[in-house]
Amino acid sequence: MQSLSQRILQANTLLAPYAVPHQGVAGRVIVEADDETRFPFQRDRDRIIHTQAFRRLQGKTQVFVVGEYDHVRTRLTHTMEVAQISRDIARTLRLNEDLAEAIALAHDLGHPPFGHAGEQALNVWMTKHGGHFEHNEQSLRIVTVLEEHSPLAEGLNLNREILDGLQKHTTPFDIPPGKLPPMHSLEAQLVNLADEIAYTGHDCDDGMKAKLFSLEQIREVPLASLALKNAEERKTSLRGALIHLLVSDLYSASDEAIQTGNIATFADVQCNSTSLICFSSAMKKSIGELRTFLWKHLYLHPQVQTKNDEGQQIILALCDQFEKSPLAKITALQTKTGSTLPEAVKDYVAGMTDAFAEKKSM
Ligand code: MG
Repeated sequence: MQSLSQRILQANTLLAPYAVPHQGVAGRVIVEADDETRFPFQRDRDRIIHTQAFRRLQGKTQVFVVGEYDHVRTRLTHTMEVAQISRDIARTLRLNEDLAEAIALAHDLGHPPFGHAGEQALNVWMTKHGGHFEHNEQSLRIVTVLEEHSPLAEGLNLNREILDGLQKHTTPFDIPPGKLPPMHSLEAQLVNLADEIAYTGHDCDDGMKAKLFSLEQIREVPLASLALKNAEERKTSLRGALIHLLVSDLYSASDEAIQTGNIATFADVQCNSTSLICFSSAMKKSIGELRTFLWKHLYLHPQVQTKNDEGQQIILALCDQFEKSPLAKITALQTKTGSTLPEAVKDYVAGMTDAFAEKKSM
């Protein structure tokens, strides 16, 4: 068998020159010896999959409360769809498939129970305590602080390329004056859009399955109507045809952006001021119209809203209750992370599955 370094060198020859190479660029926070067989980002993927936070995704709401219907997406199946789309895009664009996969698998680890409604409730509660809550930041906190891998390092000690990929929202406030933030790798950029492609596709599917809107209604949206026409011709589903349209547009728009940006190396990617993995402006507009439809008919549907409200009440009540009388688990968490009590309460509640939160609130 070839040595790891030989295999890495060989695999790198298949990558575009602006991809993140298989040995990585920025390394781990604490240096570790190489694995005998797995590439560094493959190891990161395995660490992510073996966390408790990853397993709990199966009990967390995507849009529909877990258990309400058997065939709609949970946070776990959504994550698997994002990982699958990310790998395909990475391979087609000759980017680093392992890196994209690892970022995709970790991207929603920080999601609290009850989906975005849960996120809003935690943010409201944390704001009252002088903080805030945002699921991307929580994903990063999980892999860098909360989860354990080895007593030799805090968190999972992942490669910095993964951490960077989880930091979706770098604001101008995070960057020293006069300095431009380095752009994320193309692998991180593509996972962002793979996430959007996945939820746009599956939310159409789930909304119809739950009978919140009909095929006739969604056909009124130009992008859905085109996808349905293609689906009839290709004998496939609306979801499949929609993903195909979005991914194809992403390939041509990103190719063009990489060419017009004269991107030849990974350093060029970092110096570029805009996202190079992108949709065309026509497609952005079409997706916007479809999102408006989904907001009206799905996310703001009274049936979804009622469940969201219930979820928010549960989260707020749990946070208040645990702040007044913290469980031993919460004080242990506080000691381990050196954080304030509200922060430890937030970490504990954000980690819960929907069912566990419901049980605890009874
Ligand atoms: Mg997501």
